[in-house]
Amino acid sequence: MKITIKDLHEGINEFEQDIPSEEVQVKEIGFFAGPIHMGIFIDKLENLFRFKIALQTTLQQSCDRCLESFRSDFSTEIEQIYHLGPDSLDSDEIEVLPANAKEIDISKVIHDAFILNRPLKQLCRDDCRGLCPNCGTNRNLKDCDCDKEDIDPRFAKLKSLLK
Ligand SMILES: [Zn+2]
Ligand SMILES: [Zn+2]
Repeated sequence: MKITIKDLHEGINEFEQDIPSEEVQVKEIGFFAGPIHMGIFIDKLENLFRFKIALQTTLQQSCDRCLESFRSDFSTEIEQIYHLGPDSLDSDEIEVLPANAKEIDISKVIHDAFILNRPLKQLCRDDCRGLCPNCGTNRNLKDCDCDKEDIDPRFAKLKSLLK
């Protein structure tokens, strides 16, 4: 994923671009269900390029609890500063590129943005009931009998008296 910089003008440049999902591989996050939309804002000051990129896409993930596949919207923002040629500011936040660079490869910052901002838990819904650890039934779809059999017989008797 490269941004051509030779045509950018001084000051603020704004445009939108889509990345085909095949171009970004982030195995930690599942699959992309569609293209990745980017809103790109670049503030150019001579050899200094301040990037702000808003990413928006739909993920195809598998639920940590019930293992079913589900889709979820994902959006995040990236900021990165690039400098063409050696830069006197010598800051960790600035990535230095060759002085004659014609384009900037943003693949890595996009990849990192997905890794850093990915949901730590992948759940099809907040109250997903998951799979029964005993028989493997998806408890979102139907109840199994395992819980009932686990009940202490004495309590079962008590329960039947209370009915
Ligand atoms: Zn689930
Ligand atoms: Zn069960």
